[in-house]
Amino acid sequence: MSSLHYSSVTDEQLVHINKSLAKGDTIEVVKWAYDTFSDDLIYSCSFGAEAMVLLDMISGVKKNARVTFLDTHLHFPETYALIEQIRKRYPELHLTIKEPEISLAQQAEAHGAELWKRQPDLCCQIRKVDPMESVLKGTVAWMSGLRREQSATRADVQFVNRDEKFQSLKICPLIHWRAEEVWQYIHMFELPYNALHDQSYPSIGCEPCTRPVKEGEDSRAGRWSQLGKTECGLHLAK
Ligand code: SF4
Repeated sequence: MSSLHYSSVTDEQLVHINKSLAKGDTIEVVKWAYDTFSDDLIYSCSFGAEAMVLLDMISGVKKNARVTFLDTHLHFPETYALIEQIRKRYPELHLTIKEPEISLAQQAEAHGAELWKRQPDLCCQIRKVDPMESVLKGTVAWMSGLRREQSATRADVQFVNRDEKFQSLKICPLIHWRAEEVWQYIHMFELPYNALHDQSYPSIGCEPCTRPVKEGEDSRAGRWSQLGKTECGLHLAK
């Protein structure tokens, strides 16, 4: 068990760790994370472009790393197809699929059909945030592919973050990466990726809440557009 823990780590310790990680490459952050937390670390993988980079790096550091995908039952067929490709490419990864407590039919019965159109926060809570809480129970840290340039709400993310929402530590090795660098890495190592990225979907979530972006639009403009929502809730403080 790691000595570094959400409940005991001080702000000074976090500043010191982040400063020291900033001196190395991304792979050093990944290595540090698995050296520090080993099986107490779960990578919450969305299977977006950043995930292709992280999965590749992680598999070189800890072949049987724990990886979780939150399956809302509303993802695009292309996303499910990519997951199968990843299983074949990295067969030793310990990839689990976490599903919500209730089916879509049960959700419709309890809250009405197409909840995402009327109460997307509640839909994300049921289908993403609650399952994530259950995944993280008993673990010390989780990893995410957040990048600072993705949005204003992500501009201050550090390599190691105190995550108040899940009372955990959140590790984000890709904070400094630009979108072009993600794609350079994917092409350089001929990694698989979601076919929708080639159809103007820079950011891909659930099918009902994701549309392609138009030229000049922000990379996350296609997520929850017209719903006044920018995050699913996993990365919000509370
Ligand atoms: Fe529901 Fe949309 Fe959130 Fe998916 S992204 S859980 S469909 S509100």
